[in-house]
Amino acid sequence: MNFDPTDEQRRWLDLARDFAQSDIRPRAAQLDREQRFPYEIIAEMARLGLMGLTLPQEYGGSGGDFVAYNLALEEISRADTSVGITMEAHISLGCAPLAAYGTPEQKDSFLRRCATGARLWAFGLTEEEAGTDAGGTQTTAELEGGEWVINGSKKWITNSGTDVTAGVTVIARTGTREDGRPELTALIVPQEMPGYTRGPGYEKLGWRASDQRPLYFEDCRVPEENLLGERGAGLRQFLRTLDGGRVAVAALSVGLAQACFDEALARARERHQFGKAIGEFQAIQFKLADMAMEIELARNLVLKAAWLKDQGRPFSREASMAKVFASEAAKRAADQAVQIHGGEGFMEGSAVARYWRQVKINEIGEGTSEINRQIIAHSLLAESAEAAKAKMVAQ
Ligand SMILES: Cc1cc2nc3c(=O)[nH]c(=O)nc-3n(C[C@H](O)[C@H](O)[C@H](O)COP(=O)(O)OP(=O)(O)OC[C@H]3O[C@@H](n4cnc5c(N)ncnc54)[C@H](O)[C@@H]3O)c2cc1C
Repeated sequence: MNFDPTDEQRRWLDLARDFAQSDIRPRAAQLDREQRFPYEIIAEMARLGLMGLTLPQEYGGSGGDFVAYNLALEEISRADTSVGITMEAHISLGCAPLAAYGTPEQKDSFLRRCATGARLWAFGLTEEEAGTDAGGTQTTAELEGGEWVINGSKKWITNSGTDVTAGVTVIARTGTREDGRPELTALIVPQEMPGYTRGPGYEKLGWRASDQRPLYFEDCRVPEENLLGERGAGLRQFLRTLDGGRVAVAALSVGLAQACFDEALARARERHQFGKAIGEFQAIQFKLADMAMEIELARNLVLKAAWLKDQGRPFSREASMAKVFASEAAKRAADQAVQIHGGEGFMEGSAVARYWRQVKINEIGEGTSEINRQIIAHSLLAESAEAAKAKMVAQ
């Protein structure tokens, strides 16, 4: 077993850390306050290859592995999770399905525009009646004269309405199966299609400098060949896409937890009470020790899940484990970081107050903790205890 990153993984990690610390972290508070999409930062990340880190080189991506991507994403998110989610949603949710299921023609037309990150691509699954129950999709698409006619709406779709967004892949009902369940299909919708509009961005508790919008489809027509993957396989494709997304949101959570720890450690050294640094009190030391322990555990879970994906092995259970543990560890880290700051941590201008606001979404986006616990439990119940343990230990 080797816990050292490869030279290539180290290169991506260092590149992301240097850029994040010099160009993102100093601007994070202002971006959050102004709720402004960070166009210049995303453009520079595209130039550095970070916005296409895992995407195929033949279409303009960087061709890096999934471990490298998660190492880099942790560093970006340590500086700012709004930038982190923009990178994550573009690569894992927007572009990964185009790369995995697209025909060569679709990749040429759509992935090539976005694989560097100069243009962004979005992933539209969630609707008013289809949140955790993603199969509850009400948006419809009917084939008429060689075109799909899409009607319906989506909500909270990340990267869907920026000035550099090139399009979205949406899930729509394209019929009913023999067993009465809806047939769900993924369709590629370029940004400029008539009948496709976006609403205004949302006011949010966190990820405030990232872009989320409602999407509206009114007799929006796209060519028949914009069907992504197989007809009727849309939900299966999207759920598989979310497995990768969950590892990445876990990496984002680790980055935020690390940022909380960075601030807490500095404060423990600097703040004096009763004539000594508060870091000399055992109560504060134990908080720091618990934070460091949980961050280490969460990071190891992320990297194991990412490594399994790189090996082409099953990683769905580990993805859910990483997502649940890292998001909840980050929440505990944010809480303790504020506690270590005392009243100063309650002031809007302090970084830990911002982190405390931002951390909650990690337990919700890309599958709530509840649904991820169900995925873990179902996978355990589906096999013998010995098989489950062997898989966990040796995989
Ligand atoms: C900022 C932001 C960005 C997002 N970006 C995107 C995006 O780019 N693309 C996209 O498609 N979606 C996106 N989403 C949607 C996100 O994935 C959903 O919010 C998430 O899947 C949960 O759905 P919901 O919010 O409707 O919660 P609900 O499904 O309404 O769940 C409410 C509560 O009920 C629980 N619950 C629901 N069903 C069960 C069950 N069977 N068993 C136990 N508990 C259950 C949930 O765990 C939760 O605690 C985004 C959301 C936000 C807030």
